Amino acid sequence: MTLRSEMFIDGEWVAASNGAVDPVNEPATGQPYAEVAHGTVEDVDRAVAAAERAFPAWSKTAPGERALALLRLADRVEEAQEELAQIESQNAGKPVSLAREEMGMVVEHFRYFAGAARSLEGRAAGEFVPGKMSIIRRDPLGVIGSVAPWNYPLLMATWKIAPALVTGNTLVLKPSEHTPFSALRLAELAADLFPAGVLNIVTGDGEDVGARLVSHPDVRMSSLTGSVETGRALMHASADSNLKRLHLELGGKAPVLIYPDANIDLAVEKIMEGAFGNSGQDCMAASRIYVHESVHDDLVAGLYKSVQKLNLGPLNDENTTMGTVITAEHRDRIEGFVERARATGHVDILQGDNPGVGFYTAPTLVVGALQSDEIVRQEVFGPVTSITKFTDHDDVLGWANDTEYGLAASVFTKDVARALSASTDLQFGTVWINDHLPITPEMPHGGFKQSGNGKDMSIYALEEYTEIKHVMVNIEES
Ligand code: NAD
Repeated sequence: MTLRSEMFIDGEWVAASNGAVDPVNEPATGQPYAEVAHGTVEDVDRAVAAAERAFPAWSKTAPGERALALLRLADRVEEAQEELAQIESQNAGKPVSLAREEMGMVVEHFRYFAGAARSLEGRAAGEFVPGKMSIIRRDPLGVIGSVAPWNYPLLMATWKIAPALVTGNTLVLKPSEHTPFSALRLAELAADLFPAGVLNIVTGDGEDVGARLVSHPDVRMSSLTGSVETGRALMHASADSNLKRLHLELGGKAPVLIYPDANIDLAVEKIMEGAFGNSGQDCMAASRIYVHESVHDDLVAGLYKSVQKLNLGPLNDENTTMGTVITAEHRDRIEGFVERARATGHVDILQGDNPGVGFYTAPTLVVGALQSDEIVRQEVFGPVTSITKFTDHDDVLGWANDTEYGLAASVFTKDVARALSASTDLQFGTVWINDHLPITPEMPHGGFKQSGNGKDMSIYALEEYTEIKHVMVNIEES
């Protein structure tokens, strides 16, 4: 498995303009294991110029031709699925079994977007003024500058690459500085499928490479999956450059509401997936559990038993169920949240295994947390979930909505009316009933409030990457 250290700009593999490289750590050992180009502002400018040159021809290709390129790429990803899973597992610290699932989703998303883009529609055409025909078109915007995070590196990159390219835009993508290798491998697989300049990958930090990309005057839209703080930086960059369109998928603090009639075994199973899958580094992680007092002790007992069974081990071992977190700093940040929760004196901290090497950290339940506690209010982005007891239906809805985040929520009950009424009242972009976490490319993903603007996945994502144009024809003169 060879890891690319160069960037992909204008159809070529290039080093940073000043030759700089950064070491990349392997989270399982905590040691550097590879290097990647530390791109510069000049590299970003070169990539944007290449994307700008490629745009006129690419934007005029037929949707079917662009879709075919995506379908071919999906086939190549499928063939290279095991290799990509190994790259992702080692680079992001996730069990290879999870990385395999993600690569399957990458294939699915490329195929979905290839199909969906062939039937984009303008919603009306006709003679709204006598003698004048109106037509609605959906046109590409131009060069898109996208910034991806480290938690699902290739899947998040796919959510940006596929809708942007298939609608006729050209793209410059910056993967996270911690996890560049799967996106670089994807570019290798895609290299001969797209004309030079259509897809460009630049690597480097957010503060220089990312910041230049999102403030570049020739970039017409920036899309980000990342933190609220970075979302804010993109808004400033847009305001200060060219008012580019923004598509922001930001943080989350997903509540899980467990009612007295819930199937507790099911709730335990779904919370385990939702809170500890990907080591809790998921913007939709089940990170605050609100459970009715009548079933509180059963739920806590079930969760603690399952947490103790989580197997933190070698990423390539099929029995490993939880991997590492991304960096030493992130591990220390997560453990800081747990220690501050412990210091409140009113919670019980129940933890599972911690191998104590690399960037592993123990899966943790914080039982007895109060709505005002930091652990209930701040996004931890790690394998930690709080548990808070409730007695009253209105209280719990109020607590669930009492947050600046609004990405996802879930409700566990057998009462259909209660579930549907809660789904109406919960101010989140996704609400699951008796489930937590599953997604599908046909359905939108995106936040209310500070969890972001715009939708990833689904037809709505395709619409985000196009401009609506009204063409009016004087048919009496034509
Ligand atoms: P981050 O915001 O630190 O970094 C995301 C990307 O932005 C990285 O590539 C980084 O280099 C870049 N970046 C940082 N500062 C920048 C700047 N000033 N200008 C341009 N680019 C810049 O986020 P992260 O730590 O990689 O990911 C964790 C965050 O992402 C969490 O808050 C999580 O909730 C969120 N997230 C959201 C979703 C979603 O779909 N809503 C999905 C995954 C992760």
